[in-house]
Amino acid sequence: MMIYVYADVHLHLYEAESPERLVRESLDGGVKFLLSAGEEMESSRRSVELTSLEGVYAAVGVHPAKAMQPYDVKELERLLEHPRVVAVGEVGMDAKYERFGVPLERQRRVFLDMIRLAKEHDLPVSIHSGRSFREVAEIVFSSDIRAHFHWYSGSVSLALELAESGHLFSLGPAILYYKNYRGLVELLPLSSLATETDYPVRIGGEENHPLRVKEVVEYVASIKGTDVEKTADTLYKNALSFFRVRP
Ligand SMILES: [Zn+2]
Repeated sequence: MMIYVYADVHLHLYEAESPERLVRESLDGGVKFLLSAGEEMESSRRSVELTSLEGVYAAVGVHPAKAMQPYDVKELERLLEHPRVVAVGEVGMDAKYERFGVPLERQRRVFLDMIRLAKEHDLPVSIHSGRSFREVAEIVFSSDIRAHFHWYSGSVSLALELAESGHLFSLGPAILYYKNYRGLVELLPLSSLATETDYPVRIGGEENHPLRVKEVVEYVASIKGTDVEKTADTLYKNALSFFRVRP
């Protein structure tokens, strides 16, 4: 059986009981690029440590849900110097966190701070956005930053506008369960897409694993009418080139 090559451009590897085992299983199954995103200081540090494993890269930053926590800009800057840190993430804004005591105003301030760090280090941002899509897009456009939208659930028209400017969208197993992602898959060009899992998030009651990106590739190929091999290859190369990683 042919084993294609895949990427998981958004997971939280430090959540695994054995990150080593998870990475080994991923590599054996063809997932050769794994990008572990931090959520605050500790998980950013852990993500960077885990880049000692084959195929693992890191994003460091402060997630909008964690925007009330203090963070150390000097240390983030040090982490960003690491050669396997390829993005500032997971960062962004999501109005739903206001309910949990994180005002949008605070999220916005932290997000802008994260964008500043990304620009200073010439890196893209890995974005979590929810219910604030237009504002997040305006910030991305006005700050002239390269953005990767993880698990995007905003409008297709806004996504197309962003894709035309070279921003990247990663699709995860959620597209297999929820019909509302179909338009996004149909209309975004293959050149703007990559795959992710947001491991360890459970989707459709199923245990998540980076190997699930294969199902995502197969689904995308079926919607696009492209063959699975070409789709796998394109989505993998999109990930490497967006994050400027050499194979
Ligand atoms: Zn995430």
